[in-house]
Amino acid sequence: MVTDAAILEAVGEVVDPEVPVLTIADLGVLRGVRHEGDEVVVTITPTYSGCPAMDLIRHEVELTLQALHVHGRVETVLSPPWTTDWMTEAGKAKLTDYGIAPPPGTSAPAPFPPSQSRANAPVLLQLSIRCPLCGSPNTSELSRFGSTSCKSLWRCNSCREPFDHFKAI
Ligand SMILES: [Zn+2]
Repeated sequence: MVTDAAILEAVGEVVDPEVPVLTIADLGVLRGVRHEGDEVVVTITPTYSGCPAMDLIRHEVELTLQALHVHGRVETVLSPPWTTDWMTEAGKAKLTDYGIAPPPGTSAPAPFPPSQSRANAPVLLQLSIRCPLCGSPNTSELSRFGSTSCKSLWRCNSCREPFDHFKAI
């Protein structure tokens, strides 16, 4: 008999096919596991509605259950909706290392260094998107959609490097 904890640990290792450094546990996509009769139901919440990665994630979770010889299925739960707050701090750190600006969260760094006042800062729609390469807050959005629909394309005005930003919801 495989324990719930073992199931969660195993399926939590499934990675986001778009950002392979992130597991669904990092993303907060993995919601839980429950039992219905003799069936194990793993619940996941998509990060972004229509995100094609979710089909692959669902499939990977099913394969993981099969590998554990667990009779189960995957259920997509839309409520409460996923928000970027569900992403773990470890997940955000991995995103930055991967070269993608993590979504702003309550624990994100302040949008401006203390020496820079808000008054003379450039007007940006999203003030807290920092360049993952040099850390500069002086960035601008190039395209609403980056390499995938889940990310937008940004460019750093300091080091001139383009980067993907994982959209906050
Ligand atoms: Zn930069």
